Amino acid sequence: MEKVKCLILGGGPAGFTAAIYASRANLGPVLYEGVQPGGQLTTTTIVENFPGFPGGVDAGNLMDGMREQARSFGADIRSGTATAVDLSSRPFRITIDDKEEIEAQALIIATGASARYLGLPSEQKYKGAGVSACATCDGFFYRKRTVAVVGGGDTACEEALYLASIAKKVYMIVRRDVFRASEIMQQKVFAKDNIEVLWNCNTQEVLGDGFGVTGARLLRKDGSVFDIAIDGFFLAIGHSPSSQLFTPWIATDQDGYILTDGKSSRTNIPGVFAAGDVQDKIYRQAVTAAASGCMAARDAEKFLLEQN
Ligand code: NDP
Repeated sequence: MEKVKCLILGGGPAGFTAAIYASRANLGPVLYEGVQPGGQLTTTTIVENFPGFPGGVDAGNLMDGMREQARSFGADIRSGTATAVDLSSRPFRITIDDKEEIEAQALIIATGASARYLGLPSEQKYKGAGVSACATCDGFFYRKRTVAVVGGGDTACEEALYLASIAKKVYMIVRRDVFRASEIMQQKVFAKDNIEVLWNCNTQEVLGDGFGVTGARLLRKDGSVFDIAIDGFFLAIGHSPSSQLFTPWIATDQDGYILTDGKSSRTNIPGVFAAGDVQDKIYRQAVTAAASGCMAARDAEKFLLEQN
């Protein structure tokens, strides 16, 4: 069985930054990128708030740069996903893609978070056939068509704005009478002629013709039910942390976010550290994920030094 000093799970800003720091500290890190190489950022286009890029930076290029930077210091970056873990004793045992087992002295969990869905059977039925949680991935298919975005946060506004530049019309389905999004995003949405906000509305059902989405049935707070005709239905109602694999051992809060000790990345298991969105329900930014990846590598380095 392969034995490593430091194993990192997750190929987003947290994982790659951990790999940069861990390789520079001679921990010989091995990183598995997981199901979404490059992390959630690759579902967006331009990142305008990552420091050092006054004109914004293409999200894919930013992640490629982080990956290359980690590799340049010797990090072993691999494709593959952890499918089982045993954290009952150290070294920890991690199974990759249900095949190889790997033993790690220290583990950094940087598995991120994934998009939430409403949980409607009709939404499941048309997933990939008009239902999507990534406008920047799938928006292209809706040129000059009509779509809806569910949610009232920054992501929903960002997705709606992106779709408004492609589609003929964008509905935003917002369950309250206010946005949760920041003021600047709200203003951008209000300034768009082809975005119509449907306040106080919840989706009862995604309507379709068996092949794809044709509409949505909405329930307004006043009890009225009405249908809208749409070709695409985009979810932007937040994310769930990808922590399920670890929860038999690792303590999380009620929403599944991994709990870390004070201002560190230490989890309840000595030698296991968490970084990025899997442990951060508040900030969830590329730059904060990267920073916490740095912390996790430094915490792992200190831990391994103390063990020896
Ligand atoms: P948020 O949690 O901020 O917003 C989720 C939105 O979805 C809210 O409007 C919420 O409604 C709504 N919602 C949740 N569940 C349901 C449901 N079951 N049915 C209908 N609506 C629902 O998530 P985001 O992904 O928008 O943002 C996450 C974090 O990332 C935030 O901190 C945000 O600021 C940040 N972000 C920053 C960006 C930027 O700076 N450019 C871009 C994108 C995100 P309600 O308000 O009623 O709870």
